[in-house]
Amino acid sequence: MLTPADLSPIPSAEALRDCPLCPRLVAFREQCRAEHPSWWNAPVPAFGDPEAWLAIVGLAPGKQGANRTGRPFTGDFAGELLYATLAKYGLSDGTYAADRGDGLKLTGAIILNAVKCLPPANKPEPGEIANCRMFLHASLAALPTVRVIVALGQIAHVAAARALGLKPAATKFAHAAEHVAKDGRILLSSYHCSRYNQNTKRLDAAMFEAVFARAVEARTHGSDGRVAQIDSGREQA
Ligand code: SF4
Repeated sequence: MLTPADLSPIPSAEALRDCPLCPRLVAFREQCRAEHPSWWNAPVPAFGDPEAWLAIVGLAPGKQGANRTGRPFTGDFAGELLYATLAKYGLSDGTYAADRGDGLKLTGAIILNAVKCLPPANKPEPGEIANCRMFLHASLAALPTVRVIVALGQIAHVAAARALGLKPAATKFAHAAEHVAKDGRILLSSYHCSRYNQNTKRLDAAMFEAVFARAVEARTHGSDGRVAQIDSGREQA
């Protein structure tokens, strides 16, 4: 049986297939395994380029998406916009077909999640986010070429900010907000590309694409303070 490390471009940063750290999520995982034995039903590994300059941090696997297919954002509504946007900015090679076996490759980008296991109702609890933080930290540590992080939604924003050594209180979440860590890595945040946010028009494709356009620009030119609230840690540096 495949493990998360088997599928990952950064295997040393992955959780065990039966990671026991979050009892509520383990119970839900076991329930899903019983109900849908052909699904992935395990911590979802990173997907993308191990030499990425851009890391995208999502919230957690969707039940019919990553939890089913074993690849982030693959097979659910949110993935349609994310993968279309990655293609638009030249960050993928191949055609996304909502299946882990579609042959799609990411070039210069990698997708991570703040929480690797499916949470009931898409809502991880604070303790679960804290438990899984070590894998996000390990992932970013295994990706030394990442210069820009795009966080999707507030939970991913806070998790990514902590991983970058930014103080959450000084790093408020907003769509298109931009913060710079002490080491120069840039955190860009976006409303999550969830079905809810798109259906309610909180986020549309143009707003989402603008974040990625800025990521491409920031990679080359760095943060110019145009949107940014510079973290107090940088001011001290
Ligand atoms: S969410 Fe993360 S820490 Fe919790 S059980 Fe899954 S892999 Fe382990």
